[in-house]
Amino acid sequence: MMEIKVVKTEAPKAKYDPAKVPFGTSFTDHMFLMEYDEEQGWHDARIEPYHNLNLDPGTMVFHYAGEIFEGLKAYRAPDGSVQMFRPQENFARMNRSAERLCLPQFDEALALEGLKQLVALDADWVPSVEGQSLYIRPVMIGTDIDIALHGIHKALFYIITCPVSAYYSSGLQPVELLIEMEDVRAVRGGTGFTKCGGNYAAATRAGERAAAKGYSQVLWVDGVERKYVEEGGGMNVMFVMDGKLVTPELNGSILPGITRKSILEMARSWGMEVEERKVSVEELWEGCKSGTVQEAFMCGTAAVVTPIGGFAKDGETVLVNGKTVGEVTRRVYENLTGIQWGKVEDPFGWMVKVK
Ligand SMILES: *Cc1c(COP(=O)(O)O)cnc(C)c1O
Repeated sequence: MMEIKVVKTEAPKAKYDPAKVPFGTSFTDHMFLMEYDEEQGWHDARIEPYHNLNLDPGTMVFHYAGEIFEGLKAYRAPDGSVQMFRPQENFARMNRSAERLCLPQFDEALALEGLKQLVALDADWVPSVEGQSLYIRPVMIGTDIDIALHGIHKALFYIITCPVSAYYSSGLQPVELLIEMEDVRAVRGGTGFTKCGGNYAAATRAGERAAAKGYSQVLWVDGVERKYVEEGGGMNVMFVMDGKLVTPELNGSILPGITRKSILEMARSWGMEVEERKVSVEELWEGCKSGTVQEAFMCGTAAVVTPIGGFAKDGETVLVNGKTVGEVTRRVYENLTGIQWGKVEDPFGWMVKVK
């Protein structure tokens, strides 16, 4: 494996309380970087003091959005050790995103080693307060200085991290979602299954409109038939229907969440029946009315589990479970966060120790 050079900061930043700083605005002391070009492949893997990037305004990423990213967390366990949740899954997914966007494949073992060293070096930044964690953001961008349209020959990979506060300061609170029937986030054949910034650019307008109407976020519907539920656009969606755990099947436009996958594995291990299939807006709507939809929640790295208390469409609203947090939703949340923070046993071997 390529050697990872380490240059430590000589001017450590003052640590801050993540509860007082908004998510994603203040980063730790160090970052991991490596560069790619066709002659050398990936090279110069290194950890350096956190710093600005110096990029020519003609750099590819600014014009044609050759950008992918990941999101995961490191947690402090009660014994003081630091552990990450399934980081191999993030790097495997990142390589699948890279393939779709014509960015270069990278060595997942090297990225994991770089990440472990980075988090170990900045371990003092991993909060010890209940519910807080260190958010980790790997990124890859195309860096050819060339605005002619062609493939990517140069790239930069980097990882930055920031402490984040507990997502729920006052416990699990059901939110209402607006079913989005106008804008689409992604279509089959497009980039919906990748974690690329472009998907978020396409999703922003609907999100802003929903927020202005007081909804927490939108529920995306498939872009081809405009009939089937897809996801939340930053979180996947799950339903408890007639006692089964049901989630939209991966169809190329839905992001294959690692939280989604883990919850399905966990529910199966409990002996719960699990279905990955198409769920139509109509089935969801009628099911909420009749009560066959017993619970609904979103899932993703940021909040782990967000209970859904209702859906809105065409000026009408249906509630789920009387807008209270269901039993399965709570069980999933407590078990998954318990494993992540090292408070309950990890029978799946998901956690990776940093130090
Ligand atoms: C990251 C993301 C998710 C959730 O994935 P996790 O791996 O569980 O964090 C869901 N949908 C979209 C669009 C995402 O970008």
